[in-house]
Amino acid sequence: MSGARAPLVEVFASCQGEGMQVGAPQVFVRFAGCDLQCGYCDTAYARAAPEQCAVFLPGGDEKRLPNPVSLQTAVNAICELADADPMLKSVALTGGEPLLHADYIAELAPEIARRGLRIYLETAGHLPAQLEMVISAVDTVSGDIKLHETMETPVAYELMAEFWRVAVRTDAFAKVVVTDRVSLDGFRRACAALGASIRMVPVVLQPVTPTGQVRPPAPEMLWLLAREADRWFGGVRVVPQCHRLMGVR
Ligand code: SF4
Repeated sequence: MSGARAPLVEVFASCQGEGMQVGAPQVFVRFAGCDLQCGYCDTAYARAAPEQCAVFLPGGDEKRLPNPVSLQTAVNAICELADADPMLKSVALTGGEPLLHADYIAELAPEIARRGLRIYLETAGHLPAQLEMVISAVDTVSGDIKLHETMETPVAYELMAEFWRVAVRTDAFAKVVVTDRVSLDGFRRACAALGASIRMVPVVLQPVTPTGQVRPPAPEMLWLLAREADRWFGGVRVVPQCHRLMGVR
């Protein structure tokens, strides 16, 4: 293993709260830093690196690792959690935006996979070149599609299409957070721009968890969005953020 280091916020075990694998027990590794600004962000604390990464151990104990964290130290922390509970068979690399640390993940993921754990990458879905650097080591890509109506600084849909052309090499699915600002026309424009890149990709529409002024769509609108999604994607589900409902991290 090289001496590469990356800023981490926390390492912990929990149930996956979003997307197609909702409810799956996983070890989470939260990377610090993000280059986007979503109005509904629920991990704003992960945008800047803390001085220390918190590792939440079984039984409620906690330990602190100085940042940035070396590969070997990260592998040890992940394995300490996974070894303590055999139902943990998967590691979610999340953020912030984990692909800002693609070179680190390209080394970390194979090390974890060698220990029999599956690699699940949660990303905002706008960094195709960085995804290419890690794709061979990833089992599942959970990629967001950030609708322009929900973003202060929108990402070009062409860049997202490029991302999906890489992501489909894994067991990938898309996640679209929808708010009351999303219109049917705006959603249709996004789907049309992504075109063939998403045709085989299942999608989860995630009604936003109310935060500040941000609200989910009305139920009738959610139904129309789901029906539209079904026309463009490889299947549709509507799933809210379940970890927030359960009150877990
Ligand atoms: S991409 Fe994720 S971490 Fe970054 S601002 Fe958006 S919701 Fe927050």
